[in-house]
Amino acid sequence: MSSDRTQKFPMPSGKLLDAVRAAARQEQFLEVVSAEEARARFERHLDLRPLGSETVTLSEALGRTLAGDLAAPIDTPPFDRSNVDGFAVSAADTTGATDTAPRRLLLNAEVLACGTPPTLTVAPGTATAIATGGVVPRGADAVVMIEWTDLVETDKGPAVDLNRTVAAGQFVSYAGSDMARGETLLRRGAQIGSREIGMLAAGGIASVDVVRRPKVAVLSTGDELTEPGKPLGPARVYDSNGAIIAAAVREAGGDPVAFGAFPDDEAKLSTAVRRALAECDMIVLSGGTSKGAGDLSHKVVSLLGGPGILVHGVALKPGKPLCLAVVGKKPVIVLPGFPTSAIFTFHAYVAPVLRAFAGRPPQAAEEITATIPVRLPSEMGRKEFVLVALVSGESGPVAFPIGKGSGSVTTFSEADGFIEIDALATSLDAGTRANVTLLGKSARVPDLVVTGSHCVALDAVLGRLAEDGFVARRISIGSQGGVSAAKRAECDLAPVHLIDPDTSMPSSSPPSIATLRRRAPSPSGGAIRWSSDL
Ligand code: AMP
Ligand code: MG
Repeated sequence: MSSDRTQKFPMPSGKLLDAVRAAARQEQFLEVVSAEEARARFERHLDLRPLGSETVTLSEALGRTLAGDLAAPIDTPPFDRSNVDGFAVSAADTTGATDTAPRRLLLNAEVLACGTPPTLTVAPGTATAIATGGVVPRGADAVVMIEWTDLVETDKGPAVDLNRTVAAGQFVSYAGSDMARGETLLRRGAQIGSREIGMLAAGGIASVDVVRRPKVAVLSTGDELTEPGKPLGPARVYDSNGAIIAAAVREAGGDPVAFGAFPDDEAKLSTAVRRALAECDMIVLSGGTSKGAGDLSHKVVSLLGGPGILVHGVALKPGKPLCLAVVGKKPVIVLPGFPTSAIFTFHAYVAPVLRAFAGRPPQAAEEITATIPVRLPSEMGRKEFVLVALVSGESGPVAFPIGKGSGSVTTFSEADGFIEIDALATSLDAGTRANVTLLGKSARVPDLVVTGSHCVALDAVLGRLAEDGFVARRISIGSQGGVSAAKRAECDLAPVHLIDPDTSMPSSSPPSIATLRRRAPSPSGGAIRWSSDL
């Protein structure tokens, strides 16, 4: 009987028991510092000036940052240029010309098409035919439009009768009036967009010195990680941090180098991180930063060299396990593995350094004031950032907390901004007016706000409405949250799951729609027609 028992409940091996003990013995963070102290320590060890420069052709310059001031090498336009099709004249010759008393000007024997340098001077009493963009010839100081003239044949040759008086300078763009030679066109730090490229090309500039893009190694760590596109095995998740961080690096002006996802294997991770350190200007790891079993990132980073780990643990939510290190002059950051924490701490601690290295100015945060509709409890001692979605309420903007937890991969993309709760506060009361730092340029104000539970049937309706140009905003805060929002008139629709009285579980049937605040007019002016077969 006892052998039976052994068979059913085998004694764990010594190795397994050691693993269980290690998992249970989470080392605590040595020193959790404030959000401000973390930044100060990190930046104290960094040279935040732009990295060197490189020369790129104009076609490669889009999105780059200018490394030095740039002066116009030539006047633009390079010559006095006609703005219309007509005749180059001396304005003095046109004085007194009217419909009833036109002035006759004899035409010179040349036509100033674009790209044709003039050979003849416009003598008093004469005019030269000129095209838009033609060079205004010597002797002329104005151009008259062809519409203001009549062609006449005289015994001295073709002439025009002019029926308007023109002022000197009329329809002429003087040389250098657009860009004068030597004038500063763009300053150091300017972002080169299509408009700047056009201006540079007009000045004859074919290549520019731009700040070198910081090369940023992006590594993910975790035994459970699978590369997107591959089949997902049991207990595994896709490596979303690698992709979002690489994209955010590019947005901040860096050049991401995707190293991929590594298992929690110290030797493999160490080899990869050392290669990254040799090849890149900065390393961003994510995951494995807690001090628990299998969390190796901080250990690998601690062995890279001085000054080493400066911060491991920040009184921040989300983002407490953030680890900031500098090796030589290169920043090495281990972001928390949870996707919302990873991207939040990236924007707070990595993006500013990256922008500085890339020569970009600090990002100016845009803020608005909004009402928080619900009470928000907060952990004392940690500065808390709460991501919010904005909708318009009866008395101004309302900021809905979208608290799906740090593990959520959708929170950040659904959020319009975030509010900050002071480390010393234990809550924010419902109705508090708070500053919302916007995450990007606000999108179009939604036509419909749908707050509550998920509903695939409603998704189909919203998909159909989107085809008609409706913008719907979905805020997933659960059935109860949706009902409360509907009572406060903060949403148009609140899908709620009905509870099955027999099982006390949410019913498997599609949610019913609790409330309709108002009928939104369709972009074409009609009312929404609900499809009856849903
Ligand atoms: P860790 O920081 O390694 O303890 O991971 C915390 C949580 O974040 C775990 O649920 C991980 O599966 C998850 N996580 C870690 N790295 C990634 C990643 N690259 N992509 C998506 N989730 C991740
Ligand atoms: Mg991990």
